[in-house]
Amino acid sequence: MNFNEQVNTSKSPSPNQESNTTPATTAICPLCQKVSWTGEADDKDEVESVMNNFVSKDWCNCKHIVSDDYVEYPPKAGTGEKVDE
Ligand SMILES: [Zn+2]
Repeated sequence: MNFNEQVNTSKSPSPNQESNTTPATTAICPLCQKVSWTGEADDKDEVESVMNNFVSKDWCNCKHIVSDDYVEYPPKAGTGEKVDE
């Protein structure tokens, strides 16, 4: 008889880990009123998937001043600097 057998199905290191991050989502840039994004983008693909719902001529064209991340896409809404053309 084996009374010591235990089934341990706990594989997740932290099942109750809470996440405060919101996925990247569409936003209107407050500076140029064009399409930008907000939320937390973990990688470029997230920004890309948001921005590719719109044609690039409708994208916010503000300058990145906070971060050089994802420079091929608009800066996160409200973090850029309006460019006068
Ligand atoms: Zn903008």
